[in-house]
Amino acid sequence: MKIYNFLNFLKMEVKKQENTLNLIASENYSSINSIIYASSSFINKYTEGYPKNRYYSGCKFFDLIENKSIIESQNLFNVNFSNVQPHSGSQANYSALQSLININDKILSLDLKSGGHLTHGFFKNFSGSYFTIINYFLNKNNLIDNNIINLIIKKEKPKLLILGYSSYHGDLDWNYLRKISKKNNCYILSDISHISGFVSSGIYKNPIEFSDIVTSTTHKTLRGIKGGIILSNNYRYYKKINSLVFPGQQGGCISNFIAGKFFSFKESNNFNFINYTKQIILNSKIMLKTFINRGYNAIINNTNNHMFLISLNKINLNSLFVEKYLEKYGIMLNKNFLPKDNKNSINPSGIRIGLSCLTTRKMKNLEIELIGNYICDIIEKKKNNLFINIRILCKKFPIYK
Ligand SMILES: *Cc1c(COP(=O)(O)O)cnc(C)c1O
Repeated sequence: MKIYNFLNFLKMEVKKQENTLNLIASENYSSINSIIYASSSFINKYTEGYPKNRYYSGCKFFDLIENKSIIESQNLFNVNFSNVQPHSGSQANYSALQSLININDKILSLDLKSGGHLTHGFFKNFSGSYFTIINYFLNKNNLIDNNIINLIIKKEKPKLLILGYSSYHGDLDWNYLRKISKKNNCYILSDISHISGFVSSGIYKNPIEFSDIVTSTTHKTLRGIKGGIILSNNYRYYKKINSLVFPGQQGGCISNFIAGKFFSFKESNNFNFINYTKQIILNSKIMLKTFINRGYNAIINNTNNHMFLISLNKINLNSLFVEKYLEKYGIMLNKNFLPKDNKNSINPSGIRIGLSCLTTRKMKNLEIELIGNYICDIIEKKKNNLFINIRILCKKFPIYK
């Protein structure tokens, strides 16, 4: 393959990102600073171990970087201990689960179709094969229900309760859940991968004081480089976590990404970021309302974070088609399971819509409502000349100026 062609792939990706309205709830745009450090010469440095305790020599500058990243993440989440090395949210969960419980121990987690994550017990995932999984489900109003969780904990006596989800629209009563867990000797792992931006900005309660361990990705609402972190206030868990990350599950860390993560934490720790996260929620509410006004069914008619789920059942549309069709127009979102979905993962019954990316592009009320209507017009095949409107909107709100 000619190098020229390869460079073109990059150019095409950059252009596609700029020309696409991105509604994928897991995605966001890293800052230029994070990108520069994530593609820096730290790539060349092998950094097995922890600051001042490395397997190879020559880590003195990286030690400074990792220490800064650790301190910055501790400040951001107001927590005593942080491990910034996990390559992803999944790897963070891998080490966190092993620090709290043993193989075959019982985990209580939200069912995948109701909004749980693969690493919370899916049978093909390590979590599902190493541990005994029991699930809780949403109640008839599609809400997390404290009473349901309470009853299962009392009956099943799980060792660990997992809170925090991949597709759920709101906050939790961490305080109550902590109380009932404690009463039954059940640990809590809070996985704030999706909502860490709202936690760090104080919009959501910080679950750290109600959890044994908190894990997160750094690239979703936190708007940073792809990766994971593990947080705890408990020194004993912290020591265990460190040894389970290295040498437990990895050799060298991705040094350049840990440098990038510093900016993920630093740039999320200011007033602008708080306003940004407030705007995400506002935009999310506006987009949801637009869909409801157009006659669509939401799983619940409210959202308190960056995302919501729309059911395509009543209007008899196919989510796979909707995803692919919108992509042709320069709109990206993802097909998604709905609670109690009876369809398969290739063509589930709903779509998930997230507003982090459009908000990062500084879009507000007017644009959000417009885009919501564009989406409905396109999938209902009411208008087919919207391609150009979408391009113009993208040009007006660039990702990187
Ligand atoms: C995204 C996500 C993860 C995993 O993140 P990866 O970096 O893709 O491994 C873990 N837990 C939850 C709840 C998530 O939404």
